[in-house]
Amino acid sequence: MTIIYEPKGKALEYSPLAINLYNGCDHACKYCYCPGIFRKTLENWSKESAPRKNILAQLEKSAAKYANDPREILFSFTSDPYQNDTAAKLTREALLICEKHNLRCQVLTKNGMAATKDFDIIKRNDWKFGSTIIFKSESLREEWEPGAPSIESRIEAVKIAHSMGIYTWVSIEPVVDAGEAISVIKELKPYVSFWKVGKINHFPTVEKIIDWHKFLVDAESALAGSSFYIKKDLEKFRVK
Ligand code: SF4
Repeated sequence: MTIIYEPKGKALEYSPLAINLYNGCDHACKYCYCPGIFRKTLENWSKESAPRKNILAQLEKSAAKYANDPREILFSFTSDPYQNDTAAKLTREALLICEKHNLRCQVLTKNGMAATKDFDIIKRNDWKFGSTIIFKSESLREEWEPGAPSIESRIEAVKIAHSMGIYTWVSIEPVVDAGEAISVIKELKPYVSFWKVGKINHFPTVEKIIDWHKFLVDAESALAGSSFYIKKDLEKFRVK
């Protein structure tokens, strides 16, 4: 896989191009699909997290190849670009390389407060700041995203980005509690430019207890007046 790459399948619903600077992710989310892709346990996936070898030198070459490409590059599908201080420094360097080659970037993180240090770059390039916030409850956060920063800090970062005039988007996926997801929409609606809403897959115990049609109806009602995209997995539950 080249450093900047074109995702396939469901990932295309998120971004036409993407980049992954790391192998592994400290956040250790219980629902993370990456350990399965890379044939690791979640424990190994999170404990062995490290930057990819010679990543910035490789990015220089890849960015030159894609120079001036108008398609957005997502940081990242298979790790959080701000998962720790080392990752945050690397991400800043990577964003600067992309800026030099006139590329367009969007970041997606659960550590929004670390990303605020890059809001200068994001703002001056009209890039996008995204955060995954699927519930408001800290106990759910501890259960499902044990290594990730608090929900409060993510909400604060979205508000800071919005106050700076940065385009903000929030990913509501995976949904582990429908009511909590709707609460996030209601609280953050004034601060979010765009929403992406999905469901949960590969977790039958959660999947079967949520009424997905009702969630779809409730989410669209809560999102009235906002810009949003319903992911195909959830869209299937629309009653025609
Ligand atoms: S933040 Fe994303 S990549 Fe990191 S463990 Fe959680 S789901 Fe996986």
